[in-house]
Amino acid sequence: MTNRVFNFAAGPAVLPLPVLEEAQRDLVALPATGMSVLEMSHRSSAIEGIMEAADQDIRALAGVPDNYRILFLQGGASLQFSMIPMNFLAGSHAAHVVTGHFAKMALQEARAVGDARIAATTEPEGFVRIPRQDELELDPEASYLHFTTNNTIFGTEWPAEPESGDIPLVADASSNLFSKPIDIAKYGLIYAGAQKNLGVAGVTLVILREDLLERIPSTLPAMLNYNTHVKGNSAYNTPPVFAVYILGLVVKWLLAQGGLDRMAQANREKAETLYDVIDASEFYAGHAWPGHRSNMNVTFRLPNPETEDLFVAQAASEGLAELKGHRSVGGIRASIYNAFPLEGVQTLASFMQEFERVHG
Ligand code: PMP
Repeated sequence: MTNRVFNFAAGPAVLPLPVLEEAQRDLVALPATGMSVLEMSHRSSAIEGIMEAADQDIRALAGVPDNYRILFLQGGASLQFSMIPMNFLAGSHAAHVVTGHFAKMALQEARAVGDARIAATTEPEGFVRIPRQDELELDPEASYLHFTTNNTIFGTEWPAEPESGDIPLVADASSNLFSKPIDIAKYGLIYAGAQKNLGVAGVTLVILREDLLERIPSTLPAMLNYNTHVKGNSAYNTPPVFAVYILGLVVKWLLAQGGLDRMAQANREKAETLYDVIDASEFYAGHAWPGHRSNMNVTFRLPNPETEDLFVAQAASEGLAELKGHRSVGGIRASIYNAFPLEGVQTLASFMQEFERVHG
């Protein structure tokens, strides 16, 4: 095997090694087909089987109820920022909780479509926390409440869903979907770009409640209408078959790990290993408030930017790659999604302690 570093990238991000190895082994010819998955018609029975298996495995992994549809779309989570208001805003307004960069983007795109209002924002505090339930301003007339389950750049995560009463909950779960158990029945629609916890860039997973499909204006362009993709089984046009194939392998890997309870336990253990080092130190300062911290993206600062640059460079030279924080925030960000191994987190924790001993 080629030498692999510990890859702390925020997305695209580390994949489970057995998934990469299986994809590599089968790349030239998928068993029993005599051709590569990259070469196959999306109308072939092999690809239809791959898409159907991914659907079934996601249902088994996350307990997706029968009245929910699973879609494999393109355009990233970013296209969902536009599709959601185009499909569901009509006649009223959207309520948005603004907890970070992508939550702001979702609001901005909804405003390009219609009336979108801020139910709560933590921007004035630098997005260090998730709003409390009593801070949410919810008009019962709202078409839906949009929130971001995990804020990839700031490193905050909702410990539980906001309560929205009869207003459908819509969530961008791009950076923590399937990192822990999820009660899909609480959501009207949940979506995630695959390239963090679920697979590779190119496919966006959308899970939506069937009854919402009736609200969609028939005047929408076909590709932007969820009904088109429901009726076409995500193959109205050519779907991103390779990305769905990898997503299917990742979901099988998650099932083989023991499912979402087991992932939650492993992810908590990994995150706590790093937060423990931060909390025991005067040198490292966590960005997010305890209790609001992400188990996926651990964000922290060092005393000054020069020391942060040195930290990132020295870590990289020791095989701890991609630790630089997002350019809009700075500092350090360790992204430790499902596929990131505990051993890599322990290596980083030791590196942090040694770095503090020398530079603290
Ligand atoms: N939402 C969140 C929470 C994200 O982390 C990202 C990507 N970093 C996006 C949306 C945008 O996703 P995409 O690039 O798939 O459009």
